[in-house]
Amino acid sequence: MSLINSVTGLLQYSDQLQSVSDTALLDTELLLSFALDVDRTWLKTWPDHKPEAAQIKQFETLFARRLTGEPIAFIIGRQGFWTLDLKVTPGTLIPRPETELLVEIALGLNVPDAARVLDLGTGTGAIALALASERNDWQLTAVDSQIAAVNLAEINRQHCQLDNVSIYQSDWFSQVPGSISAPQYHLIISNPPYIELDDPHLSEGDVRFEPATALVSGHDGLNDLKIVIGQSPRYLRSNGWLLVEHGYQQGAAVRNLFATAGFTAIGTHIDHNDLERLTLGCLPQTD
Ligand code: GLN
Repeated sequence: MSLINSVTGLLQYSDQLQSVSDTALLDTELLLSFALDVDRTWLKTWPDHKPEAAQIKQFETLFARRLTGEPIAFIIGRQGFWTLDLKVTPGTLIPRPETELLVEIALGLNVPDAARVLDLGTGTGAIALALASERNDWQLTAVDSQIAAVNLAEINRQHCQLDNVSIYQSDWFSQVPGSISAPQYHLIISNPPYIELDDPHLSEGDVRFEPATALVSGHDGLNDLKIVIGQSPRYLRSNGWLLVEHGYQQGAAVRNLFATAGFTAIGTHIDHNDLERLTLGCLPQTD
């Protein structure tokens, strides 16, 4: 039987995506699954299935968008992160696999059972929701300066049915209650924008379609990291932790910022690409 316009035939489109994507076959499977409203396992189980004409047309429309470089996550409107299936929109950063390292490290920290945790610049809500899904005894607060992100994170919170996360609009700490005399948090975590303004990588791949507010942070990429690291001590309890994601060339600068802000036990972890990706530190006992 002819494979043209069968599942297998449509998956052969993936060759055309090689120049646009490192994951051409996976992308094609995701687009075809979306058009057929099935999962990827189904595609493998029914390779000879012949989709309806309207489904083929929809797949071809989605595929044409991907050929222009538009990220898969924006085309299908979803992205997996940790164990969660999150809604994404072009108003926020697409959660990255390397950011799962923040979740993994945060879950291993020595914090009290009912820890209060703040996620700064939450975007889709990915980090806060992943932590909340693992630790229903933790109380999470997630903030973002962009109202579109706040609304999206709230949709994701409801979809994931997580009651231990509250989400509101705040430009870093601007609307976060707390002060030096009554710091609230045992852990502050953030994946802030950290790309340099003139980084050539901004004109390549998925980032072309993502909002600059979620990516770019001044000439050295450190503007927002300086705010987050510099102000966190006012909001962290004694022995509280700060954990931030940063660019692979920013490890030394970020460790310096942690030291200047008074943190101890400062350390950097490498991601699955062997790149320095996150730094953490502990705020020593003050009293
Ligand atoms: N890791 C992302 C990238 O390099 C940037 C994310 C961020 O700025 N927080 O594409």
